[in-house]
Amino acid sequence: MISQDNLLKDGKLHIFLLGSGGPINNEKRVTSSIALIANGEFVLFDVGPGTYRNADLMRLPVTQLSAIFLTHFHSDHIGDLGEANMMSWASGRSKPIEVYGPEGVEKVVDGFKMAYEFDTGYRIAHHGKEIVPPEAGIPISKTIIIQNSSDRELCYNRNEVKIFAFQVDHTPVNPALGYRIEYKGLSVILTGDTIKTENLVKHSNNADILLSEAISFELLNNLVAAVKKINPRTAKILTDIQSYHMNPISAAKLAKEAKVKKLVFIHITPPLQTKNLENIYLKGVTDEFDGEVILGEDRMEISLEPN
Ligand SMILES: [Zn+2]
Ligand SMILES: [Zn+2]
Repeated sequence: MISQDNLLKDGKLHIFLLGSGGPINNEKRVTSSIALIANGEFVLFDVGPGTYRNADLMRLPVTQLSAIFLTHFHSDHIGDLGEANMMSWASGRSKPIEVYGPEGVEKVVDGFKMAYEFDTGYRIAHHGKEIVPPEAGIPISKTIIIQNSSDRELCYNRNEVKIFAFQVDHTPVNPALGYRIEYKGLSVILTGDTIKTENLVKHSNNADILLSEAISFELLNNLVAAVKKINPRTAKILTDIQSYHMNPISAAKLAKEAKVKKLVFIHITPPLQTKNLENIYLKGVTDEFDGEVILGEDRMEISLEPN
């Protein structure tokens, strides 16, 4: 497999949407993972089920993957952690991956380590330590603690790529994080799963790109109305999830208040199988925000060149 190693060297900031959907499975989108490549650095933000496959299919230089940043521990954000670690190692990665996340990340990483312990041993026994260096197969957890709830915490600073974490509100999921990436004057925000908060506006300020989660309450409520009688349990869950996410209009308001240049929708929920559904999802967004709006798609690439 020929990897796109030039991505690491061209000096640009590259973003790849490995998963642009939410947890309701569909053919168009898998859920929750963003890859970032810049100046020799390759990191992932979340790694939902099915997303590692997209990294491979896009020929991203997975042997150079150095870190994974988790926003929180819902399964649609962590399901492929074991695969990303195992398969990048089997492909030739020679240094361990660091897994950053809020308090609790150690437990999550230890769980994946345990689940993959047999396979790690099989591969060393079969191919030898030269081919699969044992220490590179074991991920290292790094807990991010936000000292002051309204500040952002610098948690990664290599080759001019700076990654800051800040607190978001995905209650009862607590703590939950968003990330701000800065590189040679460029800035990219990943909201994680959250409602719109003052803190989110503050840390998104003047970003070049805002990668924002959003679920369409209008479309979800249509589903709720349709299933209420036949499946009250599903109706309750589709109603409950609206209390800890933004809808596209809230994300557009966030983009406007934070004065970002480009708004990219991710965590797109429910599935948008037709153009008509896409239009309903985006309805009213451009009335709130007059910058560029992009409906994220799996394997989409967005690149920025520093000035
Ligand atoms: Zn979540
Ligand atoms: Zn989610």
